[in-house]
Amino acid sequence: MLVTCPTCKNDVEWDVNNPYRPFCCERCKLIDLGAWANEEFRIPAEDADPGEFPEADDEQDTPRH
Ligand SMILES: [Zn+2]
Repeated sequence: MLVTCPTCKNDVEWDVNNPYRPFCCERCKLIDLGAWANEEFRIPAEDADPGEFPEADDEQDTPRH
C-alpha cells in the first residue's frame, strides 16, 4: 500500500516496520511536527529553512521502493 508523505509528497510504502509512517523518513516526520524549532532535533543534513522545504534536494535519503 502506498501513501503520500505529508511533508515531501513522495510516495512511500506503508510499512508497519517504518516508525515514521505515514512519513517517508525521520526528517519528514520531524519537519511536520515542527521540531525544527526544538534545539533537540538537529538534522545534520541540509541547511533547510523551517518555512522552506526544497523538493528537489530530497532524493538522497528518501527510501524509494
Ligand atoms: Zn517525506
